This record gives sequence, C-alpha cells and structure tokens, in this order.
Amino acid sequence: MKNFTNSIDAYKEAVDLMPGGVNSPVRAFKSVGMSPVFMESGKGSKIYDIDGNEYIDYVLSWGPLILGHSDDRVVQKLKAIVEKGTSFGAPTKLENELAQLVIDRVPSIEMVRMVNSGTEATMSAIRLARGYTGKDLILKFEGSYHGHGDSLLIKAGSGVATLGLPDSPGVPKSIASNTITVPYNDLASLKVAFETYGENIAAVITEPVCGNMGVVPPQPDFLKELRKITEDNGTLLIFDEVMTGFRVGYNCAQGYFDITPDLTCLGKVIGGGLPVGAYGGKREIMEQVAPSGPIYQAGTLSGNPLAMTAGFETLSALTPESYEAINKKVDHLVDGFRAAAAEYSIPLQINRAGSMVGVFFTNEEVVNFESAKTSNLDYFAQYYRTMMEEGVFLPPSQFEGLFLSTAHTDEDIAKTIQAIRTAFSKIEK
Ligand code: PMP
Repeated sequence: MKNFTNSIDAYKEAVDLMPGGVNSPVRAFKSVGMSPVFMESGKGSKIYDIDGNEYIDYVLSWGPLILGHSDDRVVQKLKAIVEKGTSFGAPTKLENELAQLVIDRVPSIEMVRMVNSGTEATMSAIRLARGYTGKDLILKFEGSYHGHGDSLLIKAGSGVATLGLPDSPGVPKSIASNTITVPYNDLASLKVAFETYGENIAAVITEPVCGNMGVVPPQPDFLKELRKITEDNGTLLIFDEVMTGFRVGYNCAQGYFDITPDLTCLGKVIGGGLPVGAYGGKREIMEQVAPSGPIYQAGTLSGNPLAMTAGFETLSALTPESYEAINKKVDHLVDGFRAAAAEYSIPLQINRAGSMVGVFFTNEEVVNFESAKTSNLDYFAQYYRTMMEEGVFLPPSQFEGLFLSTAHTDEDIAKTIQAIRTAFSKIEK
C-alpha cells in the first residue's frame, strides 16, 4: 500500500485555509473517495507527490503539458527570461512571436488577443460576439464546460458535473435566461432552438470535441451542420478549443475536422503550463476589441513574458510528426483498455480524439451528457484508486478525459496497461 501520510496532513492544513482545501474543485478528489494527493515535482511523463510516490501522469496539469513536465527547452528559455523581469505592463516582442505562431497555425485566427486563462478567453469571446452581432442570446451544449463565466455556467460539465452542481447559485436568473442549452450531437434540438430563437442568438459556443463530460467527439456532420445553421442565422460560431487546441492536432480541432469557426478560444497547451488563454478570429470581428474598437477587455498580466515564452517554446517544439507519435501511443493504450475490459468482463466505452481519451464504464455508446452519465461511477472510483496504488495518476473524475504527452514512452504505456488489468481484475461488481 502506498503511503499518503504527508498528503493527508497537508490536506488537513489546507481545508482550514481554502474552500475545500483547494484552489480548483476537482483537485479535491471528492468523487473517487480519496484524500487529495499533493504534488511536489514532475519530469517528463512522471509526477512525484510529497510522500515520494512516483506516478505516470495522464493529467498533465489538465492538458497543458503536451511536452511532459519541465521540458528542458521550455525550462531553459524561462530561466533566461525570468532574469530580465517578469512583467512590464508594456508590449514586448515575445507577444508578437506567440501571436504570429498562433495565427499561422490556427486556420480561423487572423488576429488574436492574449489573456490569462480559458475562462477569460470564453468570457471575452462571448462579449465580443454579443457586441459584434448586437444580439444577446448564447447557445451552449449540455455538459460542455467553458470556464466559470456567468453566461456559461449553465448545465456545465467538468467539476460542476463531478460535484452535481449543474447551475451554480450566484448566477442571476436574468443572465442565465440568456443562455439556451441543447444536448450535444443533437441536430434536431439545435434546429428547434434556432427556429424558436434564431434571430436573437449572438453565438453558439461549443467544444469541437467535448472534453468536460468525459471525451465525446462530434458525430459525422455535426460540426458541418452547426457551421451552416449559424451562418444561415447570422450567428457567430465560437469553437472553445481551450482543451482541444494544439492537442487534437497540429492545427487544432478545426484543422482536424476542416471547419472554420468565426472565433476560437484557446488555453492550456498555448501556455505550456503557465497561465495563458487567448481568443481570436476574423480580423473584422477582432478589430471591434478595444482599443481598435469599442468592446472592452483588458488584463494587467496579459501577454507577460514568462507566459509568452512557455507558450512559444511549447508550440515551437510541436510538429505534425509529434502528434503522429503521441497518437500511436494512444492507439496502444486504447487497445490495452479494450483487451483488459474483455478479459475481466467490464462494461467499457472508450472515446478518443487525438490524445484526448474518455473511459466510460457502460455498454451504451457515449454521444452526449445523458449517455456519459450512464457510466458506473462506483466502478470508476474503484478503478481510480487501484490505478493510484499502481502508480498511474489520472484525472480524479469520470467527467474528464486523460491526456498523453510527447514524453510518454512505450514502457509507460506497457506499465499502464498492466495497471489497468490489475484495476479491472479487482473491480467488485
Ligand atoms: N473551456 C474548456 C473547454 C475547458 O476545458 C476549460 C478548463 N478545463 C476552460 C474553458 C476554462 O479554462 P481555465 O480553467 O483556464 O479557466
């Protein structure tokens, strides 16, 4: 049995200091029946807790660390930059460099604004869509998570789903009433929503591959139809690529599916482990943002040198071949999951897009939030705890995906598959 004494002590201290002992809810490990594990360091595919336990890491800081922990290229550049100062409140050329790289790589982005988190990116994109179209309504999909902005915290996924808090107190009814929700992958409901509210919908915001109800890819033609229906109604299409951006493929999910939204939100990988978000899109729309236009959005630390450097170095290290290499490892892992499920008669659905992987303990095909919720949460919690014991760190929630990095080795995958077999063999039915 692993020793978690130091983590347990640190958590006892933390619960008096921070709500739930954490600075972001899913870190509390609530749904898996464990005390949270406190981390100390990471290198490559490995992460180490404060009791000295080593894990193969499939959380990767919830997605950003596509090169693994403390990648030498990123760390060296950060060390050099930090010596020169951490923030100037005036423009730097580092911002131009990351902006240019993002514009080159993301098909829909002609201009971009850097912010500090995914939440800021989506909140700002929503304001821009409303300001640009002069309309108020927003349409989102049930079980999608777009950060914790008021307009978007409605029937949300991620930690909100994990904790069973679908609509947070504190969001005024008047704001919530401007958000329409329909099930993901459900074109019939989408059409009804547009027939009813069409001319007042400023934007549809969607994760091109949902990653916050577990991983749920779009069904064939869903994104294409969504693009058409938004165009026909004068509604902006916003792709929230905070999770999928630079993760699902070299040119993000929009390149992978060949659909061009009007606006795109980025986060996670774009900051390579430092706090960065961004939103961008058509020049004509982006020029409405202050100071070139009237729609206001600002940030004291936006575009700061450290964040820009981590993002630039991370994205620069990625090539189309990097994605092919990660995806091969994912193929191997997914085969291992399926073989173990067959061996131990475990109901299992695996959804996957690039190196985002969703594991559901159900026989039902998972195409939306309703079907994601058919997963057996007790099986998930049992599997989770054994995986920790076996030295594999996974997101502690059914409603999240796991990620791989360029640093994961064949040996890591082989060990993980062995751990999955052990975990499935121990599930009490
Ligand atoms: N959008 C999506 C799709 C996300 O997955 C997340 C975070 N998991 C966010 C927005 C919010 O990003 P942040 O936590 O950086 O505010």
